[in-house]
Amino acid sequence: MPIPSPVRTALFAILALLGCAATPAAGNAPPKAFEVQKTEAEWRSQLTPSQYRILREKDTERAFTGAYWDEHREGVYACAGCGLELFSSKDKFDSGTGWPSYTRPIKPDAVDVATDTKYGMVRDEVVCHRCGGHLGHVFDDGPAPTGKRYCINSDSLTFTPR
Ligand code: FE
Repeated sequence: MPIPSPVRTALFAILALLGCAATPAAGNAPPKAFEVQKTEAEWRSQLTPSQYRILREKDTERAFTGAYWDEHREGVYACAGCGLELFSSKDKFDSGTGWPSYTRPIKPDAVDVATDTKYGMVRDEVVCHRCGGHLGHVFDDGPAPTGKRYCINSDSLTFTPR
């Protein structure tokens, strides 16, 4: 027996709504619940104004102004928001860009990558896996062994020399 037309219409409407809900807004990753959750007031009180603008508002520090673009000591770079270890000096290279640059994160799951379509460009945004803090972007023009260039804001990181 065929489904009565009004029921069918309602079913299609529900399916369409579900479809919309499941489709991320154009160019944005679907919202993700990060393990570390804080209110904006908590982030503001914990971070410096520059760290807050970068980590929480996805700003970018000016090239050659950050603390780590010219850092050459051995050590580990952790998230300035939550302390998760993100990058190692072993994977750092001189990119000439004025931002600390790495060929890979310290562990594959230390960072998440999301599509960023701001400023008319399609870029891969790099965020901290644990708190979602904005770190920078990753590009495909890096050196061996990965060919990746993780271009990261100094102010999203804290460096601990070994
Ligand atoms: Fe973090």
